[in-house]
Amino acid sequence: MNAPILIVGGGPSGLAAAHALARVGQRCVLVEKAPRLGGAPILSGYAKLVPSGEWARDAIGGMVERVTADSLVETHTGTTIVSFSGAPGAFTATLSDGQTVSAGAAILCTGFTHFDSLNKPEWGFGTFPDVVTTTQVEQMISSGRGVRCPSDGRKPQRVAILLCVGSRDRQIGREWCSKICCTVSANLAMEIREELPEAHVYIYYMDIRTFGLYETKYYWKSQEEFKVKYIKARIAEVTSDGQRLIVKGEDTLVKRPITIPFDMVVHAIGMDPNLDNKVLSDVFGVALEPHGYIGRRSAYGNTAETSRPGVFVAGAAMGPETIDDSIAQGHAAALAALGLVAPARAAG
Ligand SMILES: Cc1cc2nc3c(=O)[nH]c(=O)nc-3n(C[C@H](O)[C@H](O)[C@H](O)COP(=O)(O)OP(=O)(O)OC[C@H]3O[C@@H](n4cnc5c(N)ncnc54)[C@H](O)[C@@H]3O)c2cc1C
Ligand code: SF4
Repeated sequence: MNAPILIVGGGPSGLAAAHALARVGQRCVLVEKAPRLGGAPILSGYAKLVPSGEWARDAIGGMVERVTADSLVETHTGTTIVSFSGAPGAFTATLSDGQTVSAGAAILCTGFTHFDSLNKPEWGFGTFPDVVTTTQVEQMISSGRGVRCPSDGRKPQRVAILLCVGSRDRQIGREWCSKICCTVSANLAMEIREELPEAHVYIYYMDIRTFGLYETKYYWKSQEEFKVKYIKARIAEVTSDGQRLIVKGEDTLVKRPITIPFDMVVHAIGMDPNLDNKVLSDVFGVALEPHGYIGRRSAYGNTAETSRPGVFVAGAAMGPETIDDSIAQGHAAALAALGLVAPARAAG
C-alpha cells in the first residue's frame, strides 16, 4: 500500500486536495493548526461568498463534512509539523503532539494571513471603534446581528468602504493586489444596502479590479441596482469630529480635496503571506518567493511543485487567491502528488 500523502492546512485548498485523493482511494493525513477545519472562510466567519452567493458555512462547511466523514482521511486539528525529512516516496513528518507520520509526498495548503489594519494607523483602525474591516462586517452579517456601529450599536446611515488596505501599498511593503477584495467589497456594499436600504454606501478606490465575469455581477450591479457610489480617491486619513468619522483625501478624478463624514468606515483588508511561512520554509526546505509566499517551481510545467521534489503547494499559500482557484489548485496538487506515490505506469 502507498504511504499516505500529507496535507498541511485544512482550508478550501487542503480540503479539496484531501477529497480528491480519497476519491481515488489514496490515504491522506490532514494536519491543521487551528482547532477546526475550514480555513479562512470558516475561521473568520465569512458571510455569503462570491461568486456563488452561498453562505460560507454551507459551502465550505459541506467540504469539511465530506472530508471528516471519509475514512481515508486521517485528520489532526490543533497540530503543526515540527520536522520533515526523507525523500519523495519516503518522507517522515513529526507532528507537534509528538506523533510521527510516514508520507509519500506533502502538499502545503497553509493559506494566508489577513492584513492587520493596525499597520495602517492613519486610516483609523484601532483608534476609532467604528472603523472596522471587511472580515468584521462579514461576521456581523453571518452571525445574524446585522451591520451595526460597534461604538453604540446604531444602524449606520453612511458607510465608506476603503479599498486596497494592505495591498498595492509600497509604503508598507505590500505591492501585490489581493485579487478578490474589490469584488468582496462590492458584494458587501450590496448586502449592506439590502439590510439597511436607508444607508448610503460609498466605495473609495484607486482602480476597480472586479476581474473577469465579476464586472457585471458586482461592479455594475452594485451601482445600477443598489445605488452604491464609487469615488476614485487617494485617502489621506480617517479622523473624527467627536460625533462622526471624517474621511479626508483627494478625489483624483476632479483633483479636489474631500472631507466627508461617515458613521462607519470599512477597511477592505488584503491577503498577507502566512505569518508561518518562514517556519514552513525551514521545516519543509521549500523556497519562498520574494514577497514571502511559498514559491512554485514552474508556472506551466507542473504548477503545484515547490523547490523541493515531493513537496507541493496549492491555494493562497502561493499568493492572493480566490476560493474556486484554490480548490482547483488543491486538485492539481493532489494529482501531482498522486503521480509521485502511485505505482509506476506499466511500460508500453
Ligand atoms: C475579507 C475576505 C473575504 C473573502 N471572501 C471570498 C469570497 O467570497 N470568495 C472567494 O473566492 N474568496 C474569498 N476570499 C479569499 C479566500 O479567503 C481564499 O481564497 C481562501 O481562503 C484560500 O483557501 P486556502 O485553503 O488556500 O487558504 P486558507 O483559507 O487560508 O486556509 C489555510 C489553512 O491552513 C491552516 N494553516 C496555516 N498555517 C498552518 C501551519 N503552519 N500548520 C498547519 N496548518 C496551518 C490555517 O489555519 C487554515 O485553516 C476572501 C478573502 C478575504 C480577505
Ligand atoms: S482586488 Fe481591488 S481592493 Fe483588492 S488589492 Fe486589488 S485593486 Fe485593491
